[in-house]
Amino acid sequence: MKLLEFEAKELFREEGIRVPKGLLVSKHEEILLHMDEIGDKVVVKAQVDVGGRGKAGGVLMADAANVVETARHLFHTPIKGVPVSRVLIEERLPIEHEYYVSIAIDRSNKQPVILFADAGGVEIEQTAKENPDAIRKVTFSPLLPDVPGFLLRELTGNAPAGVREMINKLYHVFCKKDALLAEINPLVTTPQGVYAADAKLIVDDNALARQGIAVNRDLTEREKEAEKHGFSYVELDGAIGVIGNGAGLTMSTLDLIEHFGGKAANFLDVGGGADQERVKYAVRLVAGMPAVKVIIVNLLGGITRCDEVARGIIEAGVEQEVIVRLAGTNEEEGRRLLAEKGYRMLGSMDEAVRAAVEVTA
Ligand code: GDP
Ligand code: MN
Repeated sequence: MKLLEFEAKELFREEGIRVPKGLLVSKHEEILLHMDEIGDKVVVKAQVDVGGRGKAGGVLMADAANVVETARHLFHTPIKGVPVSRVLIEERLPIEHEYYVSIAIDRSNKQPVILFADAGGVEIEQTAKENPDAIRKVTFSPLLPDVPGFLLRELTGNAPAGVREMINKLYHVFCKKDALLAEINPLVTTPQGVYAADAKLIVDDNALARQGIAVNRDLTEREKEAEKHGFSYVELDGAIGVIGNGAGLTMSTLDLIEHFGGKAANFLDVGGGADQERVKYAVRLVAGMPAVKVIIVNLLGGITRCDEVARGIIEAGVEQEVIVRLAGTNEEEGRRLLAEKGYRMLGSMDEAVRAAVEVTA
């Protein structure tokens, strides 16, 4: 789950990373009560989870005279379509230099990886494309409590020592908060020292309970529903709804859709031993996503009985066509029930997937 800037900065601050003094507001009028805390030069920042926020107009410079008006403007201006419900007013740092740093897990060698660039700021993506050598990279053993000093020097070159200290602290946050990504862009030098001017932290969804995060905000309403019912369910951006049982079968169904040139809208793994009620619920959930034009149900009957599955599909009675591939326990009875109601039940996974792709072509 992605944390917003002000949330990440709070965690950074706890670890001793210097962040600008800030005031979080959810109405521009609130600022009036705090004018004495606000300096003359401020940065007004929309708290939205949007890449390239600054370039999209979500980060504005202001002074004491127009800070309220500037915040009011942000509250009324969606950033890349995302409405702004909170705004962070921060002291404006006299920036000398902007660096980029991020920490993630390198999955290929199962180690933390740190990326660093001398030229940080809003153009970092451009730099990554046009001049990838300008971004330095180190990996090291996850068993070490600190980033080794020699690697920090290799990474940061001539940057001041405060930059290295901050990266090491960022690594501590990364570990303690079960992060998948911790990023400071820009990490800035000022006459008063080194600061994190921006902050990004993505917490591993599998660690939310340990981190005391009760709800995963990044989930859609349907994904939350599915989680409550114990289904593995993920939304994508195609038009084919996918229901399978078991991660392997569900994933290979997705692969086949891709293979035949289709795109899945979502997929749901009903798990083992799904009965009629669960199948009915699953079909309705998958069908409830407006992008879904056709649904493929690909189930292997073991403990799950094909006749129960067939009844669940029929009872769900969704608008979209449901194409079925069922094999295993009580397959004949399942086939008979579905045929009676005019469902297409295809013998192989290939045929079923191809049929679904054709519907969306
Ligand atoms: P992002 O676009 O969402 O990454 O927003 P940032 O918080 O990184 O801000 C974008 C840019 O605004 C930074 O790269 C800086 O150039 C500028 N900026 C942000 N905070 C300050 C500040 O305190 N002082 C100054 N001078 N510029 C700032
Ligand atoms: Mn930034």
